[in-house]
Amino acid sequence: MSAVEAAEAVEAGHDFIRDIIAADLAAGRCAEVVTRFPPEPNGYLHIGHAKAICLNFGVAQEFGGRCHLRFDDTNPAKEEQEYIDAIERDVRWLGFDWGPHLYHASDYFGQLYAWAEHLIEAGLAYVDDQSPEEMRASRGTLTEPGRNSPYRDRSPAENLDLFRRMREGEFPNGARVLRANIDMASGNINLRDPTLYRILHVEHPRTGGAWCIYPTYDFAHGQSDAIEGITHSLCTLEFEDHRPLYDWLLDHLPVPSRPRQYESARLNLAYTVLSKRFLTRLVQEGHVSGWDDPRMPTLAGLRRRGVPPEAIREFVRRIGVARANSLVDVAIFESAVRDTLNRAAPRRMAVLRPLKLVIENYPAGRSEEITAVNMPDDPGAGTRPVPFGRELYIEREDFVEDPPRNFHRLAPGREVRLRYAYFVTCREVVKDAAGEIVALRCTYDPATKGGNAPDGRKVRGTIHWVSAAHALHAEIRLYHPLFTRPVPGADGDLMADLNPNSLEVLEGAVVEPGLAGSNSDAPVQFERQGYFARDPDSGPGRLVFNRTIGLRDTWAKAQAGGN
Ligand code: ATP
Ligand code: MG
Repeated sequence: MSAVEAAEAVEAGHDFIRDIIAADLAAGRCAEVVTRFPPEPNGYLHIGHAKAICLNFGVAQEFGGRCHLRFDDTNPAKEEQEYIDAIERDVRWLGFDWGPHLYHASDYFGQLYAWAEHLIEAGLAYVDDQSPEEMRASRGTLTEPGRNSPYRDRSPAENLDLFRRMREGEFPNGARVLRANIDMASGNINLRDPTLYRILHVEHPRTGGAWCIYPTYDFAHGQSDAIEGITHSLCTLEFEDHRPLYDWLLDHLPVPSRPRQYESARLNLAYTVLSKRFLTRLVQEGHVSGWDDPRMPTLAGLRRRGVPPEAIREFVRRIGVARANSLVDVAIFESAVRDTLNRAAPRRMAVLRPLKLVIENYPAGRSEEITAVNMPDDPGAGTRPVPFGRELYIEREDFVEDPPRNFHRLAPGREVRLRYAYFVTCREVVKDAAGEIVALRCTYDPATKGGNAPDGRKVRGTIHWVSAAHALHAEIRLYHPLFTRPVPGADGDLMADLNPNSLEVLEGAVVEPGLAGSNSDAPVQFERQGYFARDPDSGPGRLVFNRTIGLRDTWAKAQAGGN
């Protein structure tokens, strides 16, 4: 999806899901809208989940209904309490509240079991003794029908007996499953006698050792929706082929309500992988520092990186909800982040790669306070004092010894403005024995205090600075895309597309002293550098900043370069 398509989606103001809900309410097909966000607690939430969260909680808010948070915890082999806690934290952080409506598929294990017996008694489910391999082999393919299991015609009484013994723990993992009795020749593979229950001798984070058989996603999901009175069960397009099964189960069970499933596009973001399985690998194999590594597309990673929740909600609003999958440009995400931070982040000065600048005609030992503006577009945000002295740091790249024609910053003999302070002129370049530039000797014009010359003379360049005597040292972490290609793994191996240079650490940066202050966890803009947020690795005497995002779109350029 391009920026133009995204803009069109938003301009439309509504989407097909919201249209369906509005029509259902208008026609009285439901009294209020009830949705749910149903994560499986087998990993952290990512920005794709944010799309689903904003959609489910968003429509509930807009139409005066409610949205449940329901853990789809039917596979205890992969689920952990850490993930449950992280998911709750991240949904709240994104700005949504499920109120008292926190549920778990495991809350319904008793009811689901009873409904499984109901299907057995109705002749609509049977216990299959085939091995997993045999079941796979007899399922058929997209073009060939499947074959009936030799156990398909067991009597309800025999099935009931076997199913109860499965529950009692008589059989090992994989020995038997409960399957729906639908149609092995169906054109839809999901209807070829899908598995409803499997044996899994595993403790469950919530139900402990109470069960050794667990319902499949397909058997748990629609019935959980029905128990909770969900009206609109919103999911991604992969589940479209499951809808006939979703409906079949609800049609054949004495459920208390009749939810409907609607599918829309999942979020695919360029240069990004949104698969929990793969994200888990990145964490477990140590390619990133954890689920909250700022390079990760997880909500925890984005938060640590300094992306505000409003920016994620704004991004989701801009991409809209569509019926067809597409690949979303990173630029759309980044512009939502920039637009949000531009309004929220006060300006500060930091020098990422310092070069010493000595003002020869500024008295040694003296310093003064310069008034710096917090938000150029918002006078109400006020000013702050920033110390200035004889020795300063400037950005190494703001000086060039032999400048090209369009370089307007500092060069030998040239005068520039030090932001908010004075004009300075470079008089001498100091080099070490190896010929490296180690300092610049300059003079300043005391009459230019505040950044303007009374005689009206102009300078082309304005550069930022930090007083050496007052500077705080900081580690700055710059993040680059985790993958080198727009669709990572398009050629098979995702790991081969990992960017080996996705983290760049600058050890020697300096920042203005006010950044040691108390509320400095809020995002800031380092002038001319980008938006930054303090990393939790900071502590007493240690400052670490993450670059959330640069000031300009570097993606358009990277892509034009044939990336
Ligand atoms: P993964 O494939 O990464 O394991 P999942 O879909 O299995 O993800 P769940 O925890 O089951 O993860 O997802 C919870 C909800 O979030 C589901 O309704 C799912 O459709 C939705 N969701 C997951 N990924 C995306 C995505 N990329 N875009 C939009 N919605 C998503
Ligand atoms: Mg899932």
